[in-house]
Amino acid sequence: MEGKSKKLFRRGNERIIFCVFTGIMLAVYLFEFFIIIPKIEASDPSFNRNIHVFFGTIILINVYLSVWKFLVTDATSGSRVLPSALENGWRYCWRCEANSPPRSHHCFICDKCILMRDHHCHLVSRCVGHATMRYFISMIFNMWIALIYANVLNFDFVHEVYHSFTAKSLLTMFVPWLAWLLGITESETFFMAIMMSICLLGFMYCTVMLVWHGRNIARGRTNHEMNKSIGFNYDLGVAENLRQVFGENWKYAWISPIIPSSLPGDGINFPQRMSAPQEAKGI
Ligand SMILES: [Zn+2]
Ligand SMILES: [Zn+2]
Repeated sequence: MEGKSKKLFRRGNERIIFCVFTGIMLAVYLFEFFIIIPKIEASDPSFNRNIHVFFGTIILINVYLSVWKFLVTDATSGSRVLPSALENGWRYCWRCEANSPPRSHHCFICDKCILMRDHHCHLVSRCVGHATMRYFISMIFNMWIALIYANVLNFDFVHEVYHSFTAKSLLTMFVPWLAWLLGITESETFFMAIMMSICLLGFMYCTVMLVWHGRNIARGRTNHEMNKSIGFNYDLGVAENLRQVFGENWKYAWISPIIPSSLPGDGINFPQRMSAPQEAKGI
């Protein structure tokens, strides 16, 4: 069911955004393990570096595996033959010159019809849809865990820089570039302020994304359906909704994006509340 996209990126700016995004994740990892952890070790000899290196590396690998699965998974109908006559709930897509199944929409950035389209993710330049929702959530979830971890490790140093509300600390906090250019902040403090801001803002972004999309998934509806207040019939109960997105192994699939978990649906036909299996209705 999962095919491979022929080209990873269609445009140069997509490649730049992708490189910046994946580069920032690597920069945060290197910042924690080459700058923050040695500082913690210097002030606390009982601090066990190896445990943190182990868990941090596992989380980073999970982020990159999620990105890779998200990139190479085809969210379109691929080589499947779609009916030539318009069926109930289907639409004709003038761009693709083909009939488009229920819940699918044309993405003008991907320039394809995406099955059960949710939204276009600019970080990876791919559409989140039936086949890719699991990897998108896995990517955001692992980034969220990584950034909570980083913010906890950074806490003492955030406190050290920002504990007093002096002009110097306020400038370093809100306009580190200006503070650095004016010579108020040393280069090292400026660099740390930038990295800590990335960790804090990244954590806030991932939290908002997880809450918003987690709520949609729990209700069995896409972003588009939530915004338009439609698609109520696709809500099969929380457990069944999770199975539709994370696959048959939905209870374990969240641990790693490479845990096999085949999706129960094909992205073209969807069980609905009235026609759902009896066991799914009562969940
Ligand atoms: Zn289309
Ligand atoms: Zn798209």
